[in-house]
This record gives sequence, C-alpha cells and structure tokens, in this order.
Amino acid sequence: MNFYSAPFWIRAIYPQGLIWGVPTKQREVFLTFDDGPVPEVTPLVLSILKKYNVKATFFCVGENVDKHPEVFDLLLKDGHAIGNHTYHHVKAWKTDINSYLSEVEQCNQLVKSNLFRPPHGQITRKISKILRKEYRIIMWSALSGDYDKKLSKDQCLANAVNNTRPGSVIVFHDSMKARERMEYALPLYIEYCMKNGYTFGKFDSLKMQ
Ligand SMILES: [Zn+2]
Repeated sequence: MNFYSAPFWIRAIYPQGLIWGVPTKQREVFLTFDDGPVPEVTPLVLSILKKYNVKATFFCVGENVDKHPEVFDLLLKDGHAIGNHTYHHVKAWKTDINSYLSEVEQCNQLVKSNLFRPPHGQITRKISKILRKEYRIIMWSALSGDYDKKLSKDQCLANAVNNTRPGSVIVFHDSMKARERMEYALPLYIEYCMKNGYTFGKFDSLKMQ
C-alpha cells in the first residue's frame, strides 16, 4: 500500500461521509481532473478523452474559470461533469471557516455543481458537516501523482493502474505542473482500463436545488 492510494486507515482519520470510491461491482472507473481549466492543458485532456470517447469529472478552480471562460465552456460542450474546487485553491487546515465557505460560494457562482473536492485533500469535520448539506464531497481511490515532479511518468501510470478496482475514483490534473506526466500516463491508463474491460463513469453534477 502506498500514499497514492487511500487505504482504510487514511479514510478513518478523515471526517465521515466523504466519497472515496463508488460502490459498484461493475468494472467502472471514474476519472477526475483537478485545478483547471487552463488553455495550455485542459484542451489537451479533452482531445485525449474525445479520442477514446471517455467522459470525466473536472474539479475547477473558480479563478481559472474567471480567467478562461472559453476553456470552461469546452468542458460543458463535451458533456463532462464539473465540480467545485474553491475559488483560489485554498487549504482548509490553514483558512478560517467563514473564509473557506465564502471561497466555495465564490466558486459556486461560476461552477454550478453539487460536487466538491477540497484542494490539497484538506478538510475539517466542521467544514465537511456544513458542505455535505449541499455537496457530495468527492475524495479519491488513487492519486496518479502527476503533479509530483519527483515521480517518473511510469510511476504515475503505475499508481493509477495498481489502484484500479470497480468504482475507483482516479485523480489526474489539468495543470501546467502535471502536464508532462499526465500527457504520458492518461492515454496509457485509459488503454489499460479498456483492455481490462473497464468502462468510464462521470459523477452527476446537477445542482440539487
Ligand atoms: Zn487541486
């Protein structure tokens, strides 16, 4: 077991009610992309997904949506799901609760979704209790680690492959930092899944209100 998967003891120290995978016996995985949309990377992800006819879920940073509304529109046009990743990609353990909630609301003005993923994987009991009234909080089954410059491209691929089970939620990034490793690992990961009989699901991001 390594850091890039989310074993039971990691889940146990987090607040209750977070989503670490989708309960299913079907061979279905959920690809997610964090930190976009940015013109240098997001369209590249979209072209890879289109090539394999795969839908995914994008957790968007509000500030990026503000800067690149045309790239955000591409996500919607291609039929992907969208989720809230705060306005400035803030850390819950270092932000007071009211500022954090207004960050989420500021992002919500642009990204209409009932899905939320906390930046840096940081969340507190108090914040999760409040946000769960309005959002499904989507964590992960496995991180590819594509953002980590210390990892090789093949290690990122292996992190995703080795942690793939029915209902796994896999994290990649549409960010400049991750681009090189993501661009290599993503198509190979999709091909691995297809060869092993997996299909790809996206979360339902319709706002419940
Ligand atoms: Zn992030």
